[in-house]
This record gives sequence, C-alpha cells and structure tokens, in this order.
Amino acid sequence: MSTEQLELHDVIVVGASLAGLSAALYIARQGFDVLVIGMDLGGQATLATEVENYPGIQRISGLSLVDRIRSQVEKFGGQITYEEVTTIEKKESSFKVKTNMFSYYAKAIVLAVGKSPRKLKVRGEEEFKGRGVSYCTVCDAAFFKDKVVALVGVGDEANESAIYLSKLVKKTYYILPTEKVIGRSDVVSQVENNEKIVLLLDSEVKEIKGKDKVSSIVVYNRNKKELKELEVEAIFVEMGYELRTSFLSNLVKLNEKGEIVIDKLAKTSCEGIFAAGDVTDVPYKQMIIAAGFGAIAGLSACNYLLSLKGKGVIVSDWKKL
Ligand SMILES: Cc1cc2nc3c(=O)[nH]c(=O)nc-3n(C[C@H](O)[C@H](O)[C@H](O)COP(=O)(O)OP(=O)(O)OC[C@H]3O[C@@H](n4cnc5c(N)ncnc54)[C@H](O)[C@@H]3O)c2cc1C
Repeated sequence: MSTEQLELHDVIVVGASLAGLSAALYIARQGFDVLVIGMDLGGQATLATEVENYPGIQRISGLSLVDRIRSQVEKFGGQITYEEVTTIEKKESSFKVKTNMFSYYAKAIVLAVGKSPRKLKVRGEEEFKGRGVSYCTVCDAAFFKDKVVALVGVGDEANESAIYLSKLVKKTYYILPTEKVIGRSDVVSQVENNEKIVLLLDSEVKEIKGKDKVSSIVVYNRNKKELKELEVEAIFVEMGYELRTSFLSNLVKLNEKGEIVIDKLAKTSCEGIFAAGDVTDVPYKQMIIAAGFGAIAGLSACNYLLSLKGKGVIVSDWKKL
C-alpha cells in the first residue's frame, strides 16, 4: 500500500546516478526544493570499477564519483530517498509520483532512470561483477591487456567488441548462441579471420568460477552436448541493455528503442517533464554526457518553475547561474 506524502515538491528527480544527481545539484543550488527518488545510488555507474575518462579526475570508481555528487546535492539541501517509482500521473497543476512505498507530488519532473545491461543469469555472475565480469568492453578491456578473456553476445555490437578486444588481449573466446557469426558482413569477416578470436558457436555460458576474481567459465556446446571449462581472467557480456521506460509510455514520447525523446533543453513531449542521461535518445552513453544533460535538465526545470510564477528565466550566461 502506498502512503500519500502531501508536501508539494518543486521537482522530483527519478534516478540517483550521474544524470539525476547532476540535475538535482543544479536545482538545489538555484534554491528550489528537490527530491531525488532512486532505486539505488549509482545505477550503472556502480558497475564501472575504474573510471579514467571523467574530466578532471585521473581515476575513480563509478560509485565514489556518484557519491561525491550525492554529497554536493545534500549540501545544497536536496533530499534523496531510495524507492522504486512505479507510476507518474499528470494532474492539473502537478505530477503524482507513486513508488513501492509512498506517493509524492511535484510541480516538475526530471526522468533519469538510465538503463541496465542485460544479464547472463548464470551462477557466479553477481558474485564476480566488477571482478572480471564486465558489461562494458570499451570501458574495461584495457584492464586485461595481454590476458585470456571471454566475450558473450551476438550481433554487430558484440562483433565490434570482439575486434576491440583482439587489439588488447592475448586471446578472446567469443561465445555465441548461433551457428554462425551474425552481423554486418565486413565486420563478420574481420571476426572470422582474426587469429586472436576463438569462436565457440552454438554455445552458452553455464557458470563463472573463481576465488577473489574470475578464473574460469563453464561453456556448454549445444551441438556436441558437451561441457567445457575454460581458463579466463575476464568475461565481457555484450548482450545489449534494457531500458526501464515501459511505465512512462503513456506520459512521454519514446523512440523505437524505448528511449525518451528530448530536445536540446532536455524537454520531453510532456510539459513540465524533463529527461537526461542514458534513458534518453542522446547518443554516446557516457558519464560526462549524462552529467552534462542532467545539468541542462535541472536548469530547464528551474526555468519551467520560474515561468509558472511568471518570472524571468535563467539565461545561458554563467554569470547569472
Ligand atoms: C560496466 C560499465 C562500465 C562503464 N564505464 C564507464 C566509464 O568508464 N566511463 C563513462 O563515462 N561511462 C561508463 N559507463 C557508462 C555510464 O555508467 C553511464 O553512461 C551512466 O551511468 C549513465 O548515467 P544515468 O544517470 O543516465 O543512468 P544510470 O547510471 O543507469 O542510473 C539510473 C538510475 O535510475 C534509477 N532507476 C531506474 N529505474 C527507476 C525507477 N523506476 N524508480 C526509481 N529509480 C529508478 C537507478 O536505480 C539508478 O539510480 C559504464 C557503464 C557500464 C555498464
């Protein structure tokens, strides 16, 4: 049962990672009342054990980076609660946000619900996440230079990952459920003719093993009905990402991938609702981009609140921010 919280917030931000917290930071710093509702702190960022491409910081874990932004948000008076938002309803002059625990109200909304990598759902996957199990080849391949690794996936993105890995690692076992490599023919032939890629077709991963980190995987060949244990130091899972936008489909326009369509001011198709980060149709799903669009969404939400009061808006001039 969901209990009503009758206080009307200026803005509710859904999602407590790079995009949502950056939006909340800008909103709170402008003196507006902001409540962040996230299922967890950090979302996908918690999967990034070492981030080396966030400007101004040499090396940091995704979680530490997000935690720094959380403390900035709280310093400026923003509140954060850990709940799952299940529905958002547009009322006459506000929005009702229902979670698994409470119902909240706000004049404006920022959606920053990100996305999550599709999982293998095998034994050892959760245990070794960030300790050899990676969902981002481009982010983590460099940590396994000259090592033997595995890659699971199918299609263009997985094929590109196999080629990317081959430039860094000693050997990649590329495990595919299909009987041949599928995708763009030029990329397929690069994969098939690459000496550093060992194709394991018609196969699936059954288990990931190790002590402190990944040391081997168990692979099942469906054709031969045979189990094989392979020594690897990492397994890259490139099976695409799942968006969490189905509960928003009646509220904002989604594209064919289920991403929220926004304009350059982070506005959605619904007045008073803004969106930022990986959940949007903005390309290049990276932390700095999520944070940057979070700032835009935050400022646009502030402008929306000011316009409700008939007040002048914040212009894009740093001196006035
Ligand atoms: C393994 C891995 C490594 C990566 N490494 C890097 C890197 O090195 N550098 C880099 O720039 N990028 C990296 N990325 C990408 C980066 O993590 C994302 O671009 C970034 O986290 C996107 O931030 P976001 O705020 O849009 O969404 P997310 O980080 O996905 O966070 C979404 C938030 O929304 C919440 N949420 C979702 N649904 C609901 C709901 N219904 N109710 C309430 N809350 C909800 C989640 O709990 C979470 O708090 C990596 C990604 C992965 C998976």
